[in-house]
Amino acid sequence: MDPAQRASQVASALAAVRDRLDRACDDAGRDRTEVQLLPVTKFFPASDVAILHALGCREFGESREQEATAKVAEFDALVPSAGPVRWHMIGSLQRNKARAVARWAYAIHSVDSTRLLDALARAASAARDEGDRSEPLRVLLQVSLDGDPNRGGVRGDALAELAEATERAEGVVLAGLMAVPPLGSDPEQAFDTLAGVHRDLLCDHPRATALSAGMTGDLEAAVRYGSTCVRVGTALLGPRPIAS
Ligand SMILES: *Cc1c(COP(=O)(O)O)cnc(C)c1O
Repeated sequence: MDPAQRASQVASALAAVRDRLDRACDDAGRDRTEVQLLPVTKFFPASDVAILHALGCREFGESREQEATAKVAEFDALVPSAGPVRWHMIGSLQRNKARAVARWAYAIHSVDSTRLLDALARAASAARDEGDRSEPLRVLLQVSLDGDPNRGGVRGDALAELAEATERAEGVVLAGLMAVPPLGSDPEQAFDTLAGVHRDLLCDHPRATALSAGMTGDLEAAVRYGSTCVRVGTALLGPRPIAS
């Protein structure tokens, strides 16, 4: 597809998603400014990030470290006067990738163990010492809503301890929670459960206000249950290869 055609395709998709989000906020009786749209650009080239940036987007979600590390550099070269841009790591992460991610990530939505947390805290402090970042890394704890250890996320019974550890760690701040509804589950029910977990967390950690929930297929339900950040890929950029 030629670049102009791609740009107009992405522009209409973005307008449609913004309309959807406006309507979802209206229906939920929520102020539109309470919910951030985070475009997810995984599997798509830096040129698509540049298109979204030209349309006013300033924050982007990526889920694979290698791809993201390369894309951040490519985007910086492609749009040298982009101004401040915030990259969010939303996918599962191995500890040995923490150093790379801490150099470019504003936030990470997928922290689900103290081992990963410790690696990120060390990496964020090192990145600060090396002049690669000035702000602490914002950490969202990924909650498992079905307790399946293979799908990522911390179980409810281990969340309080992980939240405490995050508050104690240097180089990071506890920003909030993230979840992905279990495969085949009812998203309403999943987000309702998540909202309860978030309410409990806020009692002990009142600054952990971020709730990252909702994707292309379920953003309306997520907004109804208090999401402050919907992570949208497919509705903006189209289908990804199956293996995603
Ligand atoms: C890919 C991805 C998304 C975006 O999903 P879509 O259904 O394409 O909107 C959201 N969250 C996470 C964690 C992802 O990996």
